[in-house]
Amino acid sequence: MKEFDIIERFFNQKCHQRKDVIHGIGDDCAITRVPEGLNLAITTDTLISGVHFPIDTPPEAIAHKALAVNLSDLAAMGAEPAWYSLSLSLPEVDENWLEAFSTSLFELSRYYSIQLIGGDTVQGPLSVTITAHGFVPNESPLTRSGAKPGDMIYVSGTLGDAGVGLDIQKGKLIASEHCVQYLINRLYYPSPRLLAGTALRRIASSCIDLSDGLIRDIQHVLKASECGARIQVDKLPLSVALKESVDVEDAYSYALGAGDDYELLFTVSEENKGTLDIALANANISATCIGHITGIKQKLELRFEDQPYQSLRSGFEHFS
Ligand code: ADP
Ligand code: MG
Repeated sequence: MKEFDIIERFFNQKCHQRKDVIHGIGDDCAITRVPEGLNLAITTDTLISGVHFPIDTPPEAIAHKALAVNLSDLAAMGAEPAWYSLSLSLPEVDENWLEAFSTSLFELSRYYSIQLIGGDTVQGPLSVTITAHGFVPNESPLTRSGAKPGDMIYVSGTLGDAGVGLDIQKGKLIASEHCVQYLINRLYYPSPRLLAGTALRRIASSCIDLSDGLIRDIQHVLKASECGARIQVDKLPLSVALKESVDVEDAYSYALGAGDDYELLFTVSEENKGTLDIALANANISATCIGHITGIKQKLELRFEDQPYQSLRSGFEHFS
């Protein structure tokens, strides 16, 4: 199968059409229209086999994750998804693999109304690069840099699930069957928090998505916002499956240190707390307050029931 046939059969034919795409796949460039009063948010992420996902990862999961991690970046900036391009490096032409990959890719694309508008297809080690574009209002974008001392720190969903899923996948951990299913799905099929991202526009003072783990990612907010944070480790939201699969000490280590959850971490001023509660309830989004911003530049304090937190296990060091 030639490059042109791959593009046509697995990507062009399956693509749905947005009205703001003037030229999609097939020409030298795509041409799109940005609505008046909106700006473009643009992000790229690459997933390489054996580096960002285990080599035996199913094609459906690779496709989902490659697009979801980009959508998660859009979510963190409060952007509404619009278009993406796909650069695919394949070791060989495997039609079954491509069929599964593209079906999963377009399932997620359709769900979030994001259209594939072009890309590149080359032969090489398996890797997937997606560049996603979304719309943001042209005033006061949601960024990492607006957190202020006194702001409350929230996270969406639950933390640590994907990290436990990865250790189960690697054979380092054994869990009961229903937990395994849930935790591996959290690793393979992350849910980008797009609804939360747009709901947080003009309410949150800062926002970031959690790709590398809470401890690492919050540092980006502290640096950009020139502030510190105090986290109540006992308040970190943990899923039932995670709590059933590891002991309490390890559960908090995963929640603090493990990556790949793609939840949002955001800060909100005391003043905006009421508006936040209403926005979250209206959009049916679960979020948990896990601490607050302090004035001590880039200092991250971990507390457990108001005492300084010291992990007894190596898991935490392993991640940090
Ligand atoms: P060029 O040589 O001009 O870069 P290509 O032959 O690489 O063009 O691609 C032909 C068309 O197919 C272009 O519109 C390109 O954007 C699109 N395309 C190539 N690979 C992919 C892919 N994996 N997914 C979607 N579109 C693709
Ligand atoms: Mg090309």
